[in-house]
Amino acid sequence: MLGRATVNIKIPHDDAISKTIGIYRKALQFCVDVAWEKRIRNNVRLHPFVYKEIRGFGLPSQLAIACIKQACGTVKRAKSRPMIKGHSMRFNNPRSFSYRHGVLSLSTIEGRKKFNVALPRYAEKYIDWKINESVLWVDRKNRMFFGICFSKDIDIPIRSAQHRQVLGVDVGIKHLAVTSDRKFYGSVIPKMRRHQEHTASLQSKGTKSARRHLKKISGRWTRFMRWKNHNISREIVNSLGEGNIVALEGITNIRSNRGKRFNKQLHSWAFSQLQSYIEYKAVQRGCLVAYINPQYTSQTCRMCNEIGTRNKGFFSCGHCGYSCNADLNASFNIRNRVKPLAMTFGLPVNQPIVASNDGLLNVEHFESPDLSYNAHRL
Ligand SMILES: [Zn+2]
Repeated sequence: MLGRATVNIKIPHDDAISKTIGIYRKALQFCVDVAWEKRIRNNVRLHPFVYKEIRGFGLPSQLAIACIKQACGTVKRAKSRPMIKGHSMRFNNPRSFSYRHGVLSLSTIEGRKKFNVALPRYAEKYIDWKINESVLWVDRKNRMFFGICFSKDIDIPIRSAQHRQVLGVDVGIKHLAVTSDRKFYGSVIPKMRRHQEHTASLQSKGTKSARRHLKKISGRWTRFMRWKNHNISREIVNSLGEGNIVALEGITNIRSNRGKRFNKQLHSWAFSQLQSYIEYKAVQRGCLVAYINPQYTSQTCRMCNEIGTRNKGFFSCGHCGYSCNADLNASFNIRNRVKPLAMTFGLPVNQPIVASNDGLLNVEHFESPDLSYNAHRL
């Protein structure tokens, strides 16, 4: 499977880069507008309509190409005309950036800029990994960061089906994660309520200082979620043995299938971030990751497969009389859907596996949770 990791490195503030980001944003918005109007979603087709124009903005050719590609990606995902927010920019290795022997070299409107940056201690293990497209961004305090994306094909030991254990992971608000080995991870409801109340009261004030304060606490909350997600995913992954399978719900693409309540929950915590952390940590440990269709995982009885009822966090089945914690029942269902497929998982795969409801293996393209989440949110 493809192991991936993003390492964020702070770089000194640089005016040339700052200017380049400004121009890049302008060019990106221009490309997005043209692509949107002409209904073009393909960078090769978009190229003749925009290339000359954005080169005229002063963008070096490699950055212009990256910009056109990013614009197509943005338009493809969008439901309405996208507006470019945030101060970030993509770089391609080796065309517009490189990282070799501790030197980061970035292409800007004023030529190449070089920085001496050492990888943090924890990231030294990635040094011989492949370097992919990476993101540079500027945060609210005007600090510059570069997120280097590493990847490597990791061999997952081949095991017979009986020896591949499957761990189902259900994510939700009451407990951020519940696993099919009956462990409950993280409950943040009181803290989240306080945060929501605080946010709401500041929003209703609407003064300038309230808005400033709001920004501050939202940043603090984002950092708290990230920290918590890292901790929970580490704890879950540490309980896995090499060659085992982690089963997750494909919530990132399929939002509406698990009911209104679930969709509301999705917005109150960074669940796709939590899943992506579990995914990359599990792959690095030599485990397989499988995503299942989330339909009915919380309503199905794990004993008899009939539809039961969910009441106040408790699941009960009217057919066989089984009852248990609803999230735990869901985690069992997630595990059970992957289990019959465990024997086909000896095959080499380089992307998350998607198992559909009827138990058929479907390894067609599936967009896994975005690993550079942090970078794109800023
Ligand atoms: Zn039942």
